[in-house]
Parts: sequence; C-alpha cells; structure tokens
Amino acid sequence: MRSRTRQQMIDEDLLGRDIHDRYVIDAMGRIDRSLFVPGPLASEAYEDQALPIGPDATISQPYIVALMTQLARVRPGFRVLEVGTGSGYQAAVCADIGARVHSVELDPDLARRAREALARAGYDQVYVQVGDGYAGLPDHAPYDVILVTAAPLEVPPALLEQLDDEGRLVVPVGGLHQVLTVITRDQDDYETRRIAPVAFVPLRPG
Ligand code: SAH
Repeated sequence: MRSRTRQQMIDEDLLGRDIHDRYVIDAMGRIDRSLFVPGPLASEAYEDQALPIGPDATISQPYIVALMTQLARVRPGFRVLEVGTGSGYQAAVCADIGARVHSVELDPDLARRAREALARAGYDQVYVQVGDGYAGLPDHAPYDVILVTAAPLEVPPALLEQLDDEGRLVVPVGGLHQVLTVITRDQDDYETRRIAPVAFVPLRPG
C-alpha cells in the first residue's frame, strides 16, 4: 500500500472533516511531519492515526492536532504554553502560525529529541523545558493559549491561573474515557465547553 501524502492529509483528514481554520491548514501544509516521527516510521508520517514516539508518548493523529489548534484559535504573536512536548510537532504547528511557544515535557530524552527536530525544521521560536506540566511554566505566564496534549484526571489549577484574560485552555480531561475540553477565561470566571471523546496518554504525576 502506498503511504499517504501531506496533501491527502490536508484534503481528506482535515478539510474533509471540520477543520476550516486557514492558519491551521496552511501551517500543517508547510511542515514536514516526517521530521517529527522516529526514523523507521517516517513513511507513515501522514497516516490518519497516532504513532508511538516513546514508551509513554505518541505523536497525535493529525486531525486531533488540527482540531486542538483550531479550538485554541492560535494566531501570530500569541504566547502559547504546551504541556507534553512529545515529538515537538504540535509546538511546530503553533510556531509556524507565528506564535511564541513554551513547551514543557517530563521526559528529558523526548525533550532533547524534540529540540533537535524543531531546530532541524527551522523553528527557533519554541522553548522546550524539562519539567512537570501540572505546574505549568509560571515564569512566562500569562498565556493566550494553553494546549495540554496528555490527559489529567482533572484540570490542573496552575494552568487556569496562568491563562490570560480571554485566554483558552484546550485539554483532554479524564481517565479511561476522556473528553476534549475548552476552557475560556473571562477575568475570574471560566467557561467550559466539552467537545468530543478522545484518547490521549495520561498526564503523569511529575
Ligand atoms: N504534543 C505531542 C504529543 C505528546 S504525547 C506531539 O505533538 O507529539 C504526551 C506527552 O506528554 C508525552 O511526551 C509525555 O512524556 C508527556 N507528559 C506526560 N506527563 C507529563 C507531565 N506531567 N508533564 C509534562 N509532560 C508530560
């Protein structure tokens, strides 16, 4: 079977579903996703599925990356915090849109590989730090957008605090059955919308 191309991913898996944000489509059309998957899986980079990148980590299915970025409405100049750097691909999508990205990853080995992949792909607006995402990254807060790419059982309070006014937090919440959730800050109020069932690796205790 021939492997899928970047154009097929865009046409069938993104535009063919409910992804319509031009910033997201254009960014994912520009990025070489094969730089972010382990060498032996490079030919599967554009398949409509998640791929393993380590013992407790996967690069999300392209559609899910697109959906989260669209829900977050990432725009040029935004300050973005990502929790769970993994491969670095989601961070690259935000950086390609023109956001300044801080990303925190628990596993030092993955953080190192993500830094290398991001440098190879030419994204120098991404700062990858090793740390526990439950605490966020207070030094660079507040953020316009926070994307969590592993599932906590409950929304970590530190992330709510680090969200700017009118900022958006996109996070899969739950254990076995997770729900992709969007939380929008309105000063001291938080509006919560539950979007769709999803399956992420757990956000591990740091
Ligand atoms: N966004 C990634 C997908 C990451 S998979 C991508 O685009 O490829 C989830 C990642 O969360 C894994 O790399 C895992 O090591 C990391 N992770 C799990 N628990 C964490 C925690 N408490 N803090 C930071 N990262 C964590």
